[in-house]
Amino acid sequence: MDDSDEKKQETSRRNFLKGISALPAMAFLTSRSSAGSTSTLAQSATLAQSAAKSPSETGKKFVAIQIGARSFVDEGVDKCLDILQEKGGVNVLMPAVFTYGRGLAGRQVPGQPLPDHGVLEYDEIHGGSYTKLHPEFYAKSVIKDFRAPELGEFDILADVIPKAKARGMQVYCLFEEAYNTRLIPNFEKIAEVDVYGRISSSTCLNNPDARVFLASMVQDWLTTNDLDGMMWESERQGPLNNTLEAHFGKIGRQRSINCFCTHCLQKGQELGINVARAREGYLALDRWVAQILNQPQPSAGSFVALWRLFLEYPEILAWEKFWFHSQEEVYGLLYGTVKEANPKAQAGWHIMHLVTLSPFYRAEQDYARMAHFSDYIKPSTYNNCGGPRFAQYIRNVQSTIFRDCTPEEVLDLHYKLLGNEGEASLDKLPTVGLSADYVGRETRRAIAEVQGAVPIYPGIDIDIPTALNEKRTQPADVQAAVLAAFKAGAPGVVLSRKYAEMKLTNLAASGEALRELGGA
Ligand SMILES: [Zn+2]
Repeated sequence: MDDSDEKKQETSRRNFLKGISALPAMAFLTSRSSAGSTSTLAQSATLAQSAAKSPSETGKKFVAIQIGARSFVDEGVDKCLDILQEKGGVNVLMPAVFTYGRGLAGRQVPGQPLPDHGVLEYDEIHGGSYTKLHPEFYAKSVIKDFRAPELGEFDILADVIPKAKARGMQVYCLFEEAYNTRLIPNFEKIAEVDVYGRISSSTCLNNPDARVFLASMVQDWLTTNDLDGMMWESERQGPLNNTLEAHFGKIGRQRSINCFCTHCLQKGQELGINVARAREGYLALDRWVAQILNQPQPSAGSFVALWRLFLEYPEILAWEKFWFHSQEEVYGLLYGTVKEANPKAQAGWHIMHLVTLSPFYRAEQDYARMAHFSDYIKPSTYNNCGGPRFAQYIRNVQSTIFRDCTPEEVLDLHYKLLGNEGEASLDKLPTVGLSADYVGRETRRAIAEVQGAVPIYPGIDIDIPTALNEKRTQPADVQAAVLAAFKAGAPGVVLSRKYAEMKLTNLAASGEALRELGGA
């Protein structure tokens, strides 16, 4: 490690510790006091993983699946577990314990074909906690009342863990940042505030009450249940990428330019950022994006104009860096909270699909940095829905950052920048999808970045919704993706996004691949 690396890590450690110093009693320093010090990644990981043995360490493949409470209620806990074990070769359950989103909760997404199992009707979801709340853990939290009501008293942890354990399965609770702001009393007290002063739909990463809320849930789950681990999905990015529409959603809607709440402004100032200039810069950038989206294309000279804005307001980049460093601090907080509650439990992170599609997001989500506060990492290497998503992302960034180029040129540039040469052309990408090779390449890249310090469990796309005329998952896709992940050196996979939307024929292809590899 050279001096500059060491300096960077030291700065990271200071920011990291600074973030947690404002928190109430979390025995965090104990477990991570050496994070980012002069130790190598591998040494850090040894510390991080001092207590627990994951299936990969015992020589067993780690085959996890994400599953919502609705599936257990509809199909019965034992029947679900039978199917997961027999068809999918699953040995690790990831029950979605907290979400307000359809990606993890509920049955099939309305409008998508119903799968070949479960109750064959669409449902409504309310969302919240799918396990009982133990009030003593929320004494300091401003968010206290968020039990999901739609499944009665069913408890996705208490009602499932004993049955899973009896079969030798491990259980990692899963939660995500998908909130319904209307349904959570006091949400405005923990929300992000955008550059225009509007309350946003996610939590502020620097708001002490938001951190207490997240840590309270983790403490509750890990203390009151016999869990083997936890996974958190922080599916969002900072203000720069959002303003530039560098995502795979629809563009032209209100851009999410966060966070400019009082906590962030104060902390940014303490870190030496000119916060007034950061705000001005983002307002100017948002105006530029709005203007360019109304121009006919192509629009020569757009990139130069954009770059001039960055030169005029370097605070734009400073604020983006501040955002993802704040996100890392929350990862660190939750890591420490898990270890405090149960030193043997494994804490890891689902990394949003964009990490494989956007060089901008990839630059921020640095697996090597993450390895300091992770027991494992799940990169979302979703190759089927990856086709339409990547095509949409390319059209979005072509509309803003790369307005001087054609969409086809922008795709070629991204293939080059991301190492994806040989994948489909733009006209075919939505219907062909990305290849199983992409799963292998992203797996190898992640393993290389963490230098083997923590296990990489790639996410396998099984029936993640796409439009009906776009790429749909086939059994051969699942089989090839699982094989590619293991052959690239991954010790495990996470079957994603949720069992309720997977066809059993596709799930069975995971089991087929595992048999081909020599068993789970
Ligand atoms: Zn904030």
